[in-house]
Amino acid sequence: MNTITQPSTTQQHQQKTDLLSLTLPEMKAWFVEQGEEAYRAKQVYSWIYQRLVTDFEEMTNLPKALRQRLADKASIGPIVVRSELHSKDDRTRKILIELEDGKLIESVLMLYPPLGESSARATVCVSSQAGCAYGCTFCATGQMGFDRHLRAGEIVAQVLFFARELRKAPWKAAGLPASAPIDHITNIVLMGMGEPLHNYKNVLQALRILNSKDGFNLGARHMTVSTVGLVPAIRKLSQEPLQINLAISLHAPSDEARSQTMPINRKYPLRELLSACQDYIQATGRQVTFEYVLLSGVNDTPDHANQLGELLSPLHQFAHVNCIPVNQTAAGYRPPTPDAIRTFRAILNQHGVSNSVRAERGDDIAAACGQLRTRFEQRKQLSVINN
Ligand code: SAH
Ligand code: SF4
Repeated sequence: MNTITQPSTTQQHQQKTDLLSLTLPEMKAWFVEQGEEAYRAKQVYSWIYQRLVTDFEEMTNLPKALRQRLADKASIGPIVVRSELHSKDDRTRKILIELEDGKLIESVLMLYPPLGESSARATVCVSSQAGCAYGCTFCATGQMGFDRHLRAGEIVAQVLFFARELRKAPWKAAGLPASAPIDHITNIVLMGMGEPLHNYKNVLQALRILNSKDGFNLGARHMTVSTVGLVPAIRKLSQEPLQINLAISLHAPSDEARSQTMPINRKYPLRELLSACQDYIQATGRQVTFEYVLLSGVNDTPDHANQLGELLSPLHQFAHVNCIPVNQTAAGYRPPTPDAIRTFRAILNQHGVSNSVRAERGDDIAAACGQLRTRFEQRKQLSVINN
């Protein structure tokens, strides 16, 4: 056995401080620790989050020697993108990122033209973990198992990547007034790989960083955390000063059905989950979105719709159901027919439960999270597909 271990470049890299993981006050404290002036932190923060630079060398109002010291001791990304796919209509872009330790994660940018009263949006779907520990049967990430939590900086870096892309080439689409190309990120959803509330501390830290007025300045109301239903963490979230949106992956209206596709239901059954949601609504006064992946013949019958209506109608206008026809993975589930979806929604309407259906998008680039990595690993080689 070889007992001599050389520090790898990865280990050397990890010894550097990841500045993307620090809030501005923390960055100031770090600068002071390094014997630098605290006000330099604010300059660096602005370079990273407002000017979106990826290299200390570009921070031209810092003395050259300081830029060098920073490059020696700290890192600000950028991330390594192994593959980038754009859907044919360019409304969905997906990247596969290789982390320092070789783990692969995915992030997606979704672009929406203005619709009715809502203005155009550029939403980043962010990963919070490499892999996931919760094993939902319809989810490609769930079938990989859990690798590790992402650092706050690794979450922030995903958003910055797409922010730079849009800054460089603002998105113009049919239906978008010529004067208003989207050149910045308007929303973040924690709906990529992993369970964000399992990585609670780092996720909240990343959101605080991206919310900072001195930096990226994205409003908390433009951020959504989606959870499999970790009850204690939902309760904790209800006490946070940051007013982010909460989405619950419900996906079934009874314990019997939910436990079959979502193993977490055995630990936190529906009664406890709904009670935590009720307390969350009471504490925050905010609406909760319930995601419901429609699996043909499994959870999409009129009976299921009636049960779901009965479950959620007590929450009145504070519950909204987002119906999501399943994206097909190796598991073999099928999305319902448009007719079945219409019937399902009509029954929810009869119960007075507000609902919408997520338009399918990006299917040509494997939009459901975990699918790109799965395909990539199956191919076992880098291949960039240009649609
Ligand atoms: N772990 C968190 C967030 C990541 S998953 C959660 O489960 O909520 C984001 C959303 O995508 C969840 O609602 C999840 O259930 C859904 N999802 C997973 N696999 C899917 C698939 N094959 N098709 C459609 N949605 C899927
Ligand atoms: Fe994990 Fe969410 Fe996928 Fe379930 S749906 S396995 S919690 S990522």
